[in-house]
Amino acid sequence: METRAKSIMNHPYPEFDFDDASVQWRANKRRLPNGCYQYICMGKTKTGKPCNRNPLIGENCCKNHNESENNTKTNKK
Ligand SMILES: [Zn+2]
Repeated sequence: METRAKSIMNHPYPEFDFDDASVQWRANKRRLPNGCYQYICMGKTKTGKPCNRNPLIGENCCKNHNESENNTKTNKK
């Protein structure tokens, strides 16, 4: 009896909120008609609308909104 109680106490995420995690997981993704998810740029256009372009590999933003890319351009000036 005591061991069972101990294992529950040691659970890393006893009250993990799966719904909230799922919302955050989808924040930078777009659901495709086939049920898959595709990453989208987190940036916004000049009009304030979501960019929705394909982000760079390993980045959250497309090349227009990628900060490191912008910094490189500024340094080159
Ligand atoms: Zn973008």
